[in-house]
Amino acid sequence: MIKDYKEFKNYLEKIDINNKPKLLLHACCGPCSSYCLELLKKYFDITIFYSNDNISPKEEYQKRLDVISNFAKKYHDIKVIYDEYNNDDYNNKIKNHEHDGEKSIRCYLCYELRLEKTCVKAKELGFDFFTTTLSISPYKISKWINEIGYNLQKIYNVNYLYSDFKKEDGYKKSIELSCKYNMYRQDYCGCKYSKEERDKIKNDRIKEENNN
Ligand code: SF4
Repeated sequence: MIKDYKEFKNYLEKIDINNKPKLLLHACCGPCSSYCLELLKKYFDITIFYSNDNISPKEEYQKRLDVISNFAKKYHDIKVIYDEYNNDDYNNKIKNHEHDGEKSIRCYLCYELRLEKTCVKAKELGFDFFTTTLSISPYKISKWINEIGYNLQKIYNVNYLYSDFKKEDGYKKSIELSCKYNMYRQDYCGCKYSKEERDKIKNDRIKEENNN
């Protein structure tokens, strides 16, 4: 089990790049995948898995899927696969935590839902590893993501690849890359609660400005 980012980087350098392991990379959107692909492509034979039942509304889910599919194919020649959108799975998973806010148990459960679906898919399709791009965001807790990943590794017997892609300015690089490729960047995390929370912040700011 890899303990930290330094070990992760050392591990990458030991990979035989003439015989790349097959990695199923869960991704939530094009911008988050941009830097992760640049980092990992040298070491792994990657397929992207878009499994994001959390995203609402459905049109937004579809928009992000279209963006990532076009980007991965056009610039990296990487295949994107996806599962059936099931927003009820997300709603059932986070039940009673809807209004806990970002970085709360709601998000832990949301990571778990998507990572478990990725792990199961990786097992079904015979991948050597699975991981996720989620950790690139400063709003996501990498410690939780890795805890969940390694728990799933034990349960399903599929190797989890350590994930902390915000390191070495990963988030900043992903923003630069999404500008370079003129990619759509959403302004909320994904679920309807994160959209409501974002809207409330915006409205509060407008009210405050009007009062000054
Ligand atoms: S804020 Fe993001 S990570 Fe948290 S529950 Fe909503 S979609 Fe999932």
